[in-house]
Amino acid sequence: MLADTTCCGSQRHRTYGEWQSSSLQSSYMQETQMSEGERRERAAEQTSSAGRYSPAEIEPKWQARWDADPALYAAEGHESRKPKFYCLEMLPYPSGQLHMGHVRNYAIGDALARYMWMTGHNVLHPMGWDAFGLPAENAALKNQRPPREWTLSNIAAMKKQFRRLGMGFDWTAEVTTCLPEYYRWNQWFFLKMFERGLAYRKKSRVNWCPACRTVLANEQVVGGNCWRHEDTAVEQRNLTQWFLRITRYADELLEGLDQMEGWPEKVRTMQANWIGRSEGTFVDFAVASESAGERISEPAEKITVFTTRVDTIFGATSVQLAPEHPVAQGFAATDERLAGEIEGMVAEQKGAREAGDLGAIEKHGVATGRFAVNPFNGERVPIWIANYILADYGTGAIMSVPAHDERDFEFATKFGLEVRRVVAPNVDEDAAGLALPYLGEDEGVLVESGEWTGESCLEAQEKMAAFAKAGGFGTPTVTYRLKDWGVSRQRYWGTPIPIVYCERGHESPEPGKPGVEAGGVVALPESALPVLLPEQVEITQEGGSPLGRVASFVNTTCPVCGGPARRETDTMDTFVDSSWYFYRYTDARNAEAPFDSAKVNYWFPIDQYIGGVEHAILHLIYSRFWTKVMRDLGLVKNDEPAARLFTQGMVIRNGAKMSKSKGNVVSPDEMIERYGADATRMYALFAAPPDRDLEWQEDGVAGVSRFLSRVYRLRAVAGAARVGRAEAGGTGLERSEAERSLLRLLHQTIAKITQDFSGRWHFNTCIASIMILVNEISGREAAIAAGEISAEVTAEVFRTLTLLLAPFAPFLAAEMWEQGGGQGVVFQQAWPVADAELARESELEVPVQVNGKLVTVVRVAAESDEEQVKAAALAEEKVQARIAGKTLVKTIVVKTKLVNLVVK
Ligand SMILES: [Zn+2]
Ligand SMILES: [Zn+2]
Repeated sequence: MLADTTCCGSQRHRTYGEWQSSSLQSSYMQETQMSEGERRERAAEQTSSAGRYSPAEIEPKWQARWDADPALYAAEGHESRKPKFYCLEMLPYPSGQLHMGHVRNYAIGDALARYMWMTGHNVLHPMGWDAFGLPAENAALKNQRPPREWTLSNIAAMKKQFRRLGMGFDWTAEVTTCLPEYYRWNQWFFLKMFERGLAYRKKSRVNWCPACRTVLANEQVVGGNCWRHEDTAVEQRNLTQWFLRITRYADELLEGLDQMEGWPEKVRTMQANWIGRSEGTFVDFAVASESAGERISEPAEKITVFTTRVDTIFGATSVQLAPEHPVAQGFAATDERLAGEIEGMVAEQKGAREAGDLGAIEKHGVATGRFAVNPFNGERVPIWIANYILADYGTGAIMSVPAHDERDFEFATKFGLEVRRVVAPNVDEDAAGLALPYLGEDEGVLVESGEWTGESCLEAQEKMAAFAKAGGFGTPTVTYRLKDWGVSRQRYWGTPIPIVYCERGHESPEPGKPGVEAGGVVALPESALPVLLPEQVEITQEGGSPLGRVASFVNTTCPVCGGPARRETDTMDTFVDSSWYFYRYTDARNAEAPFDSAKVNYWFPIDQYIGGVEHAILHLIYSRFWTKVMRDLGLVKNDEPAARLFTQGMVIRNGAKMSKSKGNVVSPDEMIERYGADATRMYALFAAPPDRDLEWQEDGVAGVSRFLSRVYRLRAVAGAARVGRAEAGGTGLERSEAERSLLRLLHQTIAKITQDFSGRWHFNTCIASIMILVNEISGREAAIAAGEISAEVTAEVFRTLTLLLAPFAPFLAAEMWEQGGGQGVVFQQAWPVADAELARESELEVPVQVNGKLVTVVRVAAESDEEQVKAAALAEEKVQARIAGKTLVKTIVVKTKLVNLVVK
């Protein structure tokens, strides 16, 4: 509300929570609005080049010093006595170039890590490379460069960019997922999962991206298209593939979400929907043996339907099948007309899948002329085939209850199927008066439902499911939308799967274990790891897995019988790599195990994880699963990988996400060259709250650069007062009003930034508050020169300003710290502590409204009570003019924040 009170005089009398950074943003962004002071400063800079802010000189100097000291950002061991803080940003794919979205993501994490160092934490802030994946293969096709070489040179280039940006990463813990020292542990985990039945192979219908030329997991299909190829429709193929049994953890993955208060609500909701738990019942309807007067002698076939509303089964007036359901296919075998209809529907479903919108399909169906028997009442209901039922969803068959289901009602109305009411608000309700469809799950009771008539729906669900089970024609069950994670990829640049297929069948060497059939699956022993990815492989996108054409890789011996065997030639999904990389950071050079559990148990869970929301049901669900598997293997103690998750907004330009195809990409290198790394990363934090999208404006970077240049110039004002000297002593009583006022703002600024780091992370307003502080110092130059503000206080203000800048502009902070005579490394200094007494306002400005309209702002002593504030408001001339001749009916005083006078 106060943001609108533009008549309010000095900005600094507003509380920071109400501060809108936009006015400062625009003043730093636009040359035309440059203040007289800034103009003077700029002129001064241009005449004396010695004092000019030159990131091109300052930043490489500090970069070289920091690079020379690998221990600088290294975490202390797990025996450290400091409180630990694991600060982690999602690792990048090494495309060769950081983009602005990266700069933003890492600037957020780096600011937090630096703040945590300064508040005395043992901080782990590592970085690595999600280095397997398809782009390396595509680049190999295009440039004839081997994927490994291309990837490693990209890593080198991006690491250089990270260093140039001054990111404080612990490079001693660097992890590169495409190197055998890392991926051997993917293989090791795969074997552990295989042993426990968590990794298995089956033939099934899978998603196939024709552009990637590989299978995709369900999570990698977005609206029917490939997650990497937004314009490419995913096809369905029947293939034998490896799966990880994530569904074994479905319940735990779902229940855990309730406790994950440090995760954004939207991510938890997305995961819950993806897991899609629903309780229901499988019920078998027998296919009636008579059709159109003809006798059929085969034993009765059955159709199993899944329903969440078994209580409504007396209202079932048809059974409906997916066109590809085996029973439907069976009917079609002797019925040409039906076969033609089915073919049409299959094509329709394929088309809808490709268009990415199965929900929008125009529903229609065809009666088969055959009947199914409802096992609850022995009644025959017609069997239909319908285009909106999918063979791979549920059982591919439903019972249709038009009176109590929206979709069934719509279908029955269209095709003239019977609508039979079996649920009512109460037993005596007049049937005719009830609008259909009536769902009534929570409050309804059954009518016309045999022995269950009169039961509540919820009770009946349980009893009828149990009845079906006892009768051998049904089972209560829980189903999930979540399916097992398909991890086979028909690509080269990934982790080889540590499995061979033995050509000879033989007895199992282990008693009690089944023998291996010819062509059967044999897991390699741990001693055979790593299965190295061969080099010098011809990459093509034709003819399946490239590894299949490398004879020296494929042909091997069976570890059990020593006979000839073939290796698995698919590689693992790269999301396997990222499912556990953050555990490896705690012990990145371990050659004996994926990590030392003692180290992981010290560092985990991650205290703050930062990354894009696009991973909500990809990486973020896979890594939760992996954590639970590792816990069950006894490797870790935590149930969840990260205590807190932050998802930052996107960087957009001209209204769209930056992307090569849109031609709106801004290169970080160019920005650094023009304005420096500090200005570039500080702008990424300043231009918008971190959880919102940021609209990139180069003027804004220029503005931040001018601000930093102003800070740099002002350090001269400190003059002989050395920044690094001991804190200002003395008591408030001895200080001048000018000193008290400057210290008040200083301590308010400390309080504001400290509070923001503890959760809200509105770094944009943090930086705005530093700008206000700098404005204030700037405006007090004369007072400083005249000695009204002592050298001691000036030094204290500059020392603190330098520390406050350290998380946001590390290069400039380091330079100012050194120039000010500070000892040691600036971000190893203690974070300043706000003194509440010094921060306390002596006066407040309270807006005064008359009938809800702002009239003026009144200044009152900070300790005024409501009566005093009201009196001061009424004494104002403008207020008196406005209320003259009227009756004051009510006065609202909001605790020194607002006075509203209601008059008639
Ligand atoms: Zn694709
Ligand atoms: Zn064998």
